[in-house]
Amino acid sequence: MKPTLVLVGRPNVGKSTLFNRLTRTRDALVADIPGLTRDRHYGHGKVGERPFLVVDTGGFEPQAKDGILHEMARQTEQAIAEADVVVFVVDARHGLSAQDKEISAKLRRSGRPTLLALNKAEGLNFAVVSAEFHELGLGEPHPISATHGEGVRALVEDALDLLGEPAPDDEEDATAGGALKVAIVGRPNVGKSTMINALVGEERVIAFDLPGTTRDAIHIDFERGGRQYRLTDTAGLRRRGKVFETIEKFSVIKTLQSIEEANAVVLVLDARQEISDQDAHIAGFIVESGRALTVAINKWDGLDPYVRERVKADIERKLKFLDFAKFHYVSALTGSGLDALMRSVDAAFKAAIANLPTPQLTRTLIDATTRQTPPRHGVTRPKLRYAHQGGRNPPLIVIHGNSLEHVPESYRRYLEGVFRETFRLQGTPLRIQFNVSA
Ligand code: GDP
Ligand code: GDP
Repeated sequence: MKPTLVLVGRPNVGKSTLFNRLTRTRDALVADIPGLTRDRHYGHGKVGERPFLVVDTGGFEPQAKDGILHEMARQTEQAIAEADVVVFVVDARHGLSAQDKEISAKLRRSGRPTLLALNKAEGLNFAVVSAEFHELGLGEPHPISATHGEGVRALVEDALDLLGEPAPDDEEDATAGGALKVAIVGRPNVGKSTMINALVGEERVIAFDLPGTTRDAIHIDFERGGRQYRLTDTAGLRRRGKVFETIEKFSVIKTLQSIEEANAVVLVLDARQEISDQDAHIAGFIVESGRALTVAINKWDGLDPYVRERVKADIERKLKFLDFAKFHYVSALTGSGLDALMRSVDAAFKAAIANLPTPQLTRTLIDATTRQTPPRHGVTRPKLRYAHQGGRNPPLIVIHGNSLEHVPESYRRYLEGVFRETFRLQGTPLRIQFNVSA
């Protein structure tokens, strides 16, 4: 499971600058998807081979009693409680403030592992500026410069080291015929727990809690259509008697973690509500994670045909950036459409891990360029020579040739469509990379 780093600190200490630095490389992968809504508070980062999630909590005013600041403080406290590691950012140029002391007192009480990042430290004498921060009782400050990048890697490595080695994943992997790990995600009240109960229904259910060091995960194993599934922690789902219910408040961090842990994701939307920013943000997280995706538009029962047409058009327009996924119009309440939904979930994961042999890829590429040549750029015309698979889950197709830096986005999309169709890659993001060899 990817660990979660939560950035905490008073306003203006450089949290969002640090967040941007930590998540920058991943941004490039999804930057060109039109319509994708990004949430600039949650992102993916990586140092060396170690991936992590990072959360920027905005400004933290721990004493705020009401209004928006109070709400922010509440959300920050929730994020701290769900963090694997807290990075407490302070400002070396400003010096220690009363607010820093309040925040550190809260952090010590939370019991979360915490690192102190002394930001804006570039060009300063570390021994001098760090002295007063020892008083916070959070150990040796880590000098960093979020704008210049100094010390940032060491900070994150130390943060991840605090967590020790991740537990080895000894379950049989879905690729080897084991249970398919599915995350059912969506904002509150769209019908996730109703859907889980309908799916799991009369089938044999094994639910178990996995007590972890930092969080408890609930897993539900069930069988349907001859296939084994495991529902991974579903953001606050708990068992009440025979059925499951969402009893906790919505948690973005838990949603992100369950997406990361899954082989395939079902995004649940409510046909009776407008698509909200929250829906679009969750959709954005899924795209960014690269997971196989199937969309379930729930509560389709009892809607009149006119409303159905309108809802369909609205959803497909607003979620255009999810057009790689299959959309299912279902009712968790009556169970209608759920079999087809789960077949698509399987197909999406198969597509995500598909083997794409070089000869077929290259033949498809050559056919595509013959039917439609890439447009000229000035006097040069890009020459696409061959393709190979550079990765799976999600598939990455690497194209080799000349002047590939001049292939326009529209042509990349054309190729993506051709590859998708030829290799039946519905339900998985597909990444295409142009290798500029000469
Ligand atoms: P936040 O409110 O904590 O998210 O802070 P921001 O990231 O918005 O940064 C506040 C200000 O500090 C901005 O003007 C940044 O350019 C500046 N800043 C951030 N990191 C550094 C740094 O490492 N060195 C210096 N000198 N300034 C920084
Ligand atoms: P969750 O917060 O996403 O887990 O949502 P719930 O499963 O608790 O459902 C929220 C509300 O929507 C409940 O009142 C459900 O009975 C209702 N609901 C869920 N699925 C459907 C459906 O397919 N059709 C209709 N009409 N109502 C539904």
